Amino acid sequence: MAGSLRIVLFGPPGAGKGTQAQLLAERYELAHVSSGDIFRHNLRQGTPLGLRAKEYMDRGVLVPDEVVIDIMLDKIMSIPADDGFILDGFPRNTRQAGELEAALTTRARNIDRVAHIDVPEDELTRRLGGRYVCRDCQAPYTIADGTDAPPCQRCNGELYQRDDDRPEAVQKRIDVYREETLPVLDFYRQRGLLSDIPGKDTVEGVFQSIVAAL
Ligand SMILES: [Zn+2]
Repeated sequence: MAGSLRIVLFGPPGAGKGTQAQLLAERYELAHVSSGDIFRHNLRQGTPLGLRAKEYMDRGVLVPDEVVIDIMLDKIMSIPADDGFILDGFPRNTRQAGELEAALTTRARNIDRVAHIDVPEDELTRRLGGRYVCRDCQAPYTIADGTDAPPCQRCNGELYQRDDDRPEAVQKRIDVYREETLPVLDFYRQRGLLSDIPGKDTVEGVFQSIVAAL
């Protein structure tokens, strides 16, 4: 029998949110509702919702909120009423959070708990900023701050940082996350649903903290 917890998981880039969502989904037998997966599914299948999203993506503009909300609620509301789920990547702003709450309320359901994996900014910069890949074989490496990148252990190729992993880009990703997410966290904090989870820990340590908060 599936579990019945309804959870939202938040965490900045580099916090290991996807891994934690998977672990929680297994532990509590929940549907893992990842916004990235659901978008890719709708696009691949060419569903009416996927086609609506694609129109914007083809033009290189952000998919508007109402389309994101329709795609995510279509999935969430298709989960049997007594079954639990864990949301990963949705809601991303207070409008989405409000629409989710309204939709769940019509079915006398609600979110049980919101877990926010909180990782100090210097730790995030360290984790994300240390990502290197081999120019030749694309093997990924983590290099400690201030150390020169050695040659690839597999092919002796040169390691480099992708544009996305360079310090300026990393800072930008963290800033965007904070700007986007802090108001949503407040939305849930006001409802007494938010648990801040210390994220400067091992995968197992963070997992145990989330379990304790549930
Ligand atoms: Zn290599």
